Amino acid sequence: MANKPLLYIGAGILFLIGLCLLGYGALSVIGSTSAQGSSSWLTYGLGFGCVGALFLAGGAGLIYASIRGTKTEVIQQIKVDLPANTKVESITCKNCGGVLKPENIKMVMGAPMVECPYCGTTYN
Ligand SMILES: [Zn+2]
Repeated sequence: MANKPLLYIGAGILFLIGLCLLGYGALSVIGSTSAQGSSSWLTYGLGFGCVGALFLAGGAGLIYASIRGTKTEVIQQIKVDLPANTKVESITCKNCGGVLKPENIKMVMGAPMVECPYCGTTYN
């Protein structure tokens, strides 16, 4: 999920190919109904239409994957940012003065909760 622009370009190409195939398929199906057309065109047209639909689904899947990738990136960023912010506020335990690590600070109800690993005290 590192190359989001590439994913969008890939999705766009897949959409274009899918649309072309769908268009070609539709033309073949329409052609097969005309007097000069052969009935085998209908099969080709349906085949192209199905492949085109697959390409469109692939493009949609790529966009979905890139959106999901963005969301997890944002969540990871919040997880990294929160301990860094709370670390500035209080780096030692209020009770025993022990040095606290970022993993000793948890977010409870939106407020930072310190859990001291040395004396077991919890406070916010
Ligand atoms: Zn303590």
